[in-house]
Amino acid sequence: MAQAMGLLQGRRAIVTGAASPRGIGRATARLFAEHGATLALLDLEREAVEAAAAELGEGHLGLVCDVCDGKACRRVVETLLDRWGGIDVLVNNAGITQPLRLSQIRPEDYDAVLDVNLRGTLNMSQAVVPAMRRQRTGSIVNISSVSAQRGGGVFGGPHYAAAKAGILGLTKAMARELAPEGIRVNAVCPGFIDTDITAGELSPERLERILEEIPLGRPGEAREIAGCCLFLASDLAGYVTGAELDANGGLLIH
Ligand code: NAP
Repeated sequence: MAQAMGLLQGRRAIVTGAASPRGIGRATARLFAEHGATLALLDLEREAVEAAAAELGEGHLGLVCDVCDGKACRRVVETLLDRWGGIDVLVNNAGITQPLRLSQIRPEDYDAVLDVNLRGTLNMSQAVVPAMRRQRTGSIVNISSVSAQRGGGVFGGPHYAAAKAGILGLTKAMARELAPEGIRVNAVCPGFIDTDITAGELSPERLERILEEIPLGRPGEAREIAGCCLFLASDLAGYVTGAELDANGGLLIH
């Protein structure tokens, strides 16, 4: 009964970076499944991503895909098209961050952060867009960050802020180009969300300083970002494209 009212009933959706147990991608995949979608979860480690898909129930897939690798992205999308015949939703969630200051950023740090966040978003979008064009419908949701809008200052360094700002530019340019073909492209800009992306590197003092700046006085939950993705992916957002949806507890009120 609950599924009959699902906002994504019968939709085929890909979520990248979806294996992390407390992550935004995993929470998004879970919420989409609750709303009737069939999911493909992509991530780096086979065992973890297959387990994450199995947790959602039957019919969902967990596939290995490094979003930095354009060929791997195309291969995975071909596999899904063979199986599903189309793709309705892509959530570009895979991302990494590093708490570096400007002078600490080495070329390999820049490459790693830009590659996963920005090139990964481009790679996966390029892979799914031909199918969405054929269908003349589709929704792409890109996970940016409040860091893009306020110049970092939460956890990630300047290269992370630049990568996430790049995602906003890419989102708007794709939205403009793809709108005539019925494909919507939007971004979610999460603030400080309680996941494992900080990999134990956030000191209690830093955490306290971050929380003091958040009007709602708490970190966000992965499920609260998943809700934003659900809205943008669904027909409720049928007239929304090229938008930045802020979900930051008020951190960016201006
Ligand atoms: P998370 O728990 O670390 O999840 C990110 C997932 O992406 C992990 O499963 C990770 O796998 C995977 N991944 C990393 N590199 C990948 C690649 N090359 N290809 C495919 N998957 C890859 O982080 P999260 O906090 O949920 O973050 C999700 C997204 O939200 C990211 O884009 C992040 O930048 C963004 N965001 C987060 C926050 C926050 O406060 N948490 C705020 C703003 C924006 P491994 O674990 O194996 O590396």
